[in-house]
Amino acid sequence: MKTIRMCGMLLTLFISVSLAAQTAQTSALPAAQPGFSNAPLAATADNPHPAFDVKAAVDAYLAKVPPDKKARSDAYFEGGYWLILWDFLYSVVVMLLLLQTGWSARMRDWAERITRFRPLQTALYWIEFLLITTILQFPLAVYEGYIREHKYGLATQTFGPWMRDQMVGLLVGLILGGILIMALFGLVRRLGRAWWVWGAMVTIIFTALTIMIGPVYIGPLFNKYTKLQDAKIKQSILSMARANGIPATEVYEVDASRQSTRVSANVSGFLGTERITLNDNLLKRCTPEEIQAVMGHEMGHYVLNHVYKDIVFLALVSLVGFWFLNWALNWSLARWGQRWGIRSITDTAVLPLAVLILAVFFFVLTPVMNTQTRTEEYEADIFGLNASHQPDGEAEVDLKLGEYRKLDPGKWEERVFFDHPSGRTRITAAMRWKAEHLPIGNY
Ligand SMILES: [Zn+2]
Repeated sequence: MKTIRMCGMLLTLFISVSLAAQTAQTSALPAAQPGFSNAPLAATADNPHPAFDVKAAVDAYLAKVPPDKKARSDAYFEGGYWLILWDFLYSVVVMLLLLQTGWSARMRDWAERITRFRPLQTALYWIEFLLITTILQFPLAVYEGYIREHKYGLATQTFGPWMRDQMVGLLVGLILGGILIMALFGLVRRLGRAWWVWGAMVTIIFTALTIMIGPVYIGPLFNKYTKLQDAKIKQSILSMARANGIPATEVYEVDASRQSTRVSANVSGFLGTERITLNDNLLKRCTPEEIQAVMGHEMGHYVLNHVYKDIVFLALVSLVGFWFLNWALNWSLARWGQRWGIRSITDTAVLPLAVLILAVFFFVLTPVMNTQTRTEEYEADIFGLNASHQPDGEAEVDLKLGEYRKLDPGKWEERVFFDHPSGRTRITAAMRWKAEHLPIGNY
């Protein structure tokens, strides 16, 4: 199916290009496709496609978005920059509150009265900590996850189902977080000063395990995952997968429309739990060409081993992070430990301080973390274009993603705040690919 559609598209492209060439010198022909111009058509080695202006093609795509929609998406995305700051400051205030009022010490005392078994004390403290901080941070969470999403028309849930998802998330946090916290305090208590090296390793192994079980055990708690039924789309996707050496036999569909109007897809899992999942918004709103462009991108993540590279990157980040955590914990406890009623670094009451320190660390690291993922996303885009041969499908999808991501930011704005390339960057890559795949000099 894919071959036939591709040939049809190339044929249309060829005919429109030929027509443009014939009439170029006499009339101002409206460009049949963005980027084709009536410029002189002599091809040279330096400029093999004088009739296709990449920048003009990109601008033409971006101009398809009405100004009011663009303003709305810009406002939504720029609001997200401030939320990074507010989330950080809010969490710092909550943690300082737990320390300064002595609540953290009292929470520990309560856990110690219930049991003398230390791992259980840690688990009990964790339950108190997560419940109290969730309640204190609830107003910001409602604004960010519910009110704001509805204001911009991105959310589809009413408050009841939204709260249900929050509760499920809290439960997952209680269990997974509890296991990790018990392991980390166990290390601090046994290993003393060198704990942070092992702490970083345990954290990264734990993260890897969570990524592994995520698609099978955590995702289905929030959404329904089904095998993709549409035989036509499925076959073209599996054909592309085989062509790129991916041993996939199934593609999954997720009912993301339960929560959101966003178009998206992802690759998840590793070491045998990998799967490519398309969301139902994408399937409903995108043409087959657009879906192929998206699938090519997702396969890029898979073939380029992004999940393994992420784990190596996160391992380095957590090593630095735990070193900083250890140093900052000791430094702060020497100054304010007594006042906060924290006995030492092995005391569970130290947790709000640890969360505060890591919040500072990751706040400062925001551009670094964003750049790491954005770089991989760009690589996946390039892979996707080569795999799908759908530069216009890619550009159309990029415009749809522009409903919730600013399309045309400044250079530094993109470097600092974007965890995916902007619409302009992605469409530029697509149009550049397109220009280089036109028949050379033959218009
Ligand atoms: Zn991606």
